[in-house]
Amino acid sequence: MALEFRSQMDDAWYDARIVMDGYDCLRVKFIGFPDDHDEVFDANNLTSFKDIAEFRRRFRPVSVQVQDNECSQVAKGTLVCVAHAVCPDDRRFYDAVVYKVLHEEHRFVKGEEECPCSFILFWRHGPKAGCLTVQDLENICRVQPRRSKMNPLLTSFLETAREKIEITLSKICATPHEPAYDEKACRPSVSQRLKQKHSETYLK
Ligand SMILES: [Zn+2]
Repeated sequence: MALEFRSQMDDAWYDARIVMDGYDCLRVKFIGFPDDHDEVFDANNLTSFKDIAEFRRRFRPVSVQVQDNECSQVAKGTLVCVAHAVCPDDRRFYDAVVYKVLHEEHRFVKGEEECPCSFILFWRHGPKAGCLTVQDLENICRVQPRRSKMNPLLTSFLETAREKIEITLSKICATPHEPAYDEKACRPSVSQRLKQKHSETYLK
């Protein structure tokens, strides 16, 4: 199942697929790139629930190239994934929001519709982050909504990471602390305090 993955190397989006590397590691393979571009993630390095949520956000369904006859779907405020030419042979994709559309009448060449409109985009990340630039429709892809059902391998990897964090947390809670530290860190609940009070009264 193809996914779109935001690389940790350059923060750009790439078409990718995932495989497990043993029980704890997830390998992201970039479609069209050799194996030495793979990025490998160890569940043990996701040490908080925030890490898990951030890692999950690096994946989404593959964005779809907008066709010339679909130009009206790219309106002010639309989130799009846009090609940025790092050099002539190297186009990388980053997210941007449509700031303004300058519409022009569409042409028909040999029966094919052509969109000559210009799109002013606000880049959200990548080399142009925070800038407005003008783009043609041919560089623009539509970001697809995230599905609640994720790739099963990704779901499994994130569950493994979550279980490891829960085990670590349960060990921390089970470790005895200095009494002074305990008083500050773990105040007794109201019911515990009531029980304490009750037993004190009983002892008198
Ligand atoms: Zn157009």
